[in-house]
Amino acid sequence: MSDNESANEEDWLALRPQEPSPSQCCGSGCKPCIYDVYEKELAQWERAKAMQDKSLLMGKKEQSNNSELNPDTFTAFSVSSVEQLTEDTYQYKFELPGNSSLHLSLGQHIVLRGVVNGLEVQRAYTPISPRNAEGYFEVLIKCYEAGLMSQYIKTWKRGDVVFWRGPFGGFPYQPNKVSVRSLPKR
Ligand SMILES: Cc1cc2nc3c(=O)[nH]c(=O)nc-3n(C[C@H](O)[C@H](O)[C@H](O)COP(=O)(O)OP(=O)(O)OC[C@H]3O[C@@H](n4cnc5c(N)ncnc54)[C@H](O)[C@@H]3O)c2cc1C
Repeated sequence: MSDNESANEEDWLALRPQEPSPSQCCGSGCKPCIYDVYEKELAQWERAKAMQDKSLLMGKKEQSNNSELNPDTFTAFSVSSVEQLTEDTYQYKFELPGNSSLHLSLGQHIVLRGVVNGLEVQRAYTPISPRNAEGYFEVLIKCYEAGLMSQYIKTWKRGDVVFWRGPFGGFPYQPNKVSVRSLPKR
């Protein structure tokens, strides 16, 4: 391999998506899971490398600049207030762009990314704000002494920027209706 070819190979290797470590998976069955996102990004990288065209990787960057929550990539949200409710429980408020709402349905959660002692961790949290709350969302979090993400969360203060993706999960619910899926099989 010539010097040029090996420099090119190194360039491509630097752009290759990194396989998530088990600590990054929040374990709550997200769709897509971080491993699905990795598989998608890897396929995109393999296509771009085969065609020697780095512009084919641009779509991923454009999406992560979007200020709205989405399940595939993490989006930055600013902490607008921190309220301590009990010795170990805190309510955090985040700004949403303009007057937008998360519009989560019943039981849906979002996934937080944090880095603790150099280790990337992901955990699920269920917003408590009304689904049509405009311009903000809130989460109520119990912080554990030995908890990895808890250590990171306890450092948050107004103005900090943290990364969320979602929504995931939820229950099918309509007032005064019973879901056929929830009835026992005979
Ligand atoms: C779908 C979903 C939604 C969730 N929504 C919320 C939410 O809205 N608010 C919220 O506070 N949490 C919520 N959780 C829990 C959250 O995802 C984390 O598990 C929690 O914050 C602990 O993470 P950690 O990294 O700090 O602790 P870890 O590092 O994962 O755990 C380390 C230690 O912390 C303690 N610990 C951790 N979790 C628990 C627990 N559940 N009970 C007792 N001890 C524990 C234990 O001592 C454990 O050994 C949700 C989880 C799921 C799956």
